[in-house]
Amino acid sequence: MKRSERPAFAGSSFAAWTRGGWTPCVVALGVLLAAGGAPALAGPGPVDASHVALHEIDVDQGAATLVETPCGTVMIDAGGRQDAGDTRLLAYLKGYFAARPALNNTLPAVFLTHPHIDHDLGLLDVVHTYKVGGVIYNGQSPAPPGPGKSRADAVVAYATAHHIPTRGVLQADAFNGDGVTDDVVSPLAGCTGVKPEIRVLGGGHSKDKTGWTGDYKNPNNNSLAIRVDYGKASFLFLGDMEEAQQAEVIAHWSGTPWLRADVYHVAHHGSYNGTTPATMSAVAPKIAVMGVGAAANHAQWTAWAYGHPREQAIQAMEAGVSDHRDTPKAFPISTAVKTFHPETIDKAIYATGWDGDITITADKDGTYVVTTEPVTHPPDPPKAKTAAAAPKAHVTAGR
Ligand SMILES: [Zn+2]
Repeated sequence: MKRSERPAFAGSSFAAWTRGGWTPCVVALGVLLAAGGAPALAGPGPVDASHVALHEIDVDQGAATLVETPCGTVMIDAGGRQDAGDTRLLAYLKGYFAARPALNNTLPAVFLTHPHIDHDLGLLDVVHTYKVGGVIYNGQSPAPPGPGKSRADAVVAYATAHHIPTRGVLQADAFNGDGVTDDVVSPLAGCTGVKPEIRVLGGGHSKDKTGWTGDYKNPNNNSLAIRVDYGKASFLFLGDMEEAQQAEVIAHWSGTPWLRADVYHVAHHGSYNGTTPATMSAVAPKIAVMGVGAAANHAQWTAWAYGHPREQAIQAMEAGVSDHRDTPKAFPISTAVKTFHPETIDKAIYATGWDGDITITADKDGTYVVTTEPVTHPPDPPKAKTAAAAPKAHVTAGR
């Protein structure tokens, strides 16, 4: 990663950008927008015609990612832990689209890696609020019982009722040829020069409960694997897949170019079973980024309660990620649920619970710039609305 290079963003408000100096610029543009009646900007401004950006939105414990390209933005997961996370996600999206009027409030594709609430809490609001070109999910419809089922089913039902194309990608579909990359999965067109390409490389194991045995009863192990390429820049998302599904995915794509990626979207929020030396060997990333809550929040369904991120996953990343943070810094990592200690992170490993909103900008030559913006979450309400719906299975899966 050559982070000394300045990212090329459209808009003169970013002329004062300096390495590590995003905050004043973001605030400055946010003030400008607020003065004009639009919401404060969330994250850096729009990419220009030769860059893409991954926006990892800090939604507390959960994952919500935008992949911004010069010819459209797609969304991968829209999760959160409770209503405040959904509110934060929607506020980010509002600012994002306000700063990008040319997008016309459109998401050409929305992906749900698997139907857990920390991945789909805000998804129904997203498809209700924005113009969505297609919905891609893991092929399990109706979704299996559990937290997130109702929203996942409602999203697919809404898409069907409104004639929005859907693609349910089972792992057997993904393992056919070079993955699934049709005009629903990879709809971004109109870029001058480099065309972004999206392909799904893994998915659900069966449409119904047949075959839901052992490790595959867990929706985590029925996650979409998604790859985004933009010239030499590459991004890989593994949802919440654990060792069982990862072993299949890694074995199937071994010897192909499809798993090795510069930016690794960390599986399962940094859980011990989401990133192993085998994962790092297959992906060999320059940068790792994870959606995970802050360890300081001692409540239900938090990173603290699950023990995310876990020490052995971080150690695998410290060994396997090739690039470095600007300055090594100590962050809380866990050795067990509710058990954390500070550990100095030297490699280019970023987490929303450590860094807030994270944006990774890339050009077609694979030069990356990482920017972060701290986020303050409101304290939990006396009783979390979503807590009662979360089943034990997910708690176990989080360990
Ligand atoms: Zn998750």
